[in-house]
Amino acid sequence: MLKVVIAGVSGRMGHALLDGVFSDNGLQLHAALDRAGSPMLGRDAGEQFGKVTGVKITSDVAPALQGADVLVDFTRPEASMQYLQACQQANVKLVIGTTGFSEAEKSAITAAARHVGIVFAPNMSVGVTLLINLVEQAARVLNEGYDIEVVEMHHRHKVDAPSGTALRLGEAAAKGIDKALKDCAVYAREGVTGEREAGTIGFATMRGGDVVGDHTVVLAGVGERVELTHKASSRATFAQGALRAAKFLADKPSGLFDMRDVLGFAK
Ligand code: NAD
Repeated sequence: MLKVVIAGVSGRMGHALLDGVFSDNGLQLHAALDRAGSPMLGRDAGEQFGKVTGVKITSDVAPALQGADVLVDFTRPEASMQYLQACQQANVKLVIGTTGFSEAEKSAITAAARHVGIVFAPNMSVGVTLLINLVEQAARVLNEGYDIEVVEMHHRHKVDAPSGTALRLGEAAAKGIDKALKDCAVYAREGVTGEREAGTIGFATMRGGDVVGDHTVVLAGVGERVELTHKASSRATFAQGALRAAKFLADKPSGLFDMRDVLGFAK
């Protein structure tokens, strides 16, 4: 049985992950972490499901990691950095689903993966993993005279914008035209008037209600446009992907992987 630690256990994704662990015979809830000061500390992790697991929610990271196989993190970047360091010390693998990292924080994740196995993906769903491949392919074919716009909508509680998935889709589009996103001109409409510069990648963010996650990549040319869309209707899709990633890491002592590795998609 794979011993799993869930970080951010009282959050929206934490809830979906607990549900996934409870219904999988190959997984055992080893520990449940939440932020210091959370009203959930000291409560049984199964309480909201009417279960007694004997696992109390804690903010004490080092003891929670003792004897664990993998930590699944859906929290905030500052917390993920703390877990990254603790997992390296305790030799516990990591699935990082958190989004909103700075470039320096991403570099820290890459460096840690030399010592411990890590799956790092801003979107753990099968559908978005496929969409990343489709966008790269579309941008490769429509590589001249098409403007690329990544449109996303999420619930009103989401803190980072554009979403990690939108940025990942932007990277896929940039790769399709043999560039890195950081080398592409990014079209930002805020405070800008006048014509759009050709060959830019744009991001449009919408927030509201309880939208789990919608992403559309528009490749707009003269006389036609192609739109590639994914809509998530339940967080279970991300939780299932994250738990699949946890199992994938079982025989990976080190290395940085994404969901395309986990799902065996061509890169
Ligand atoms: P949420 O706000 O519902 O939950 C966040 C959890 O993290 C809470 O339990 C909170 O107490 C905890 N937390 C916050 N700050 C902390 C800290 N400093 N230390 C420890 N714990 C802390 O958020 P959510 O909707 O569950 O999303 C969490 C993260 O996962 C976000 O970054 C979101 O963008 C990302 N996400 C990723 C995917 C994916 O597939 N990769 C899918 C959905 C959400």
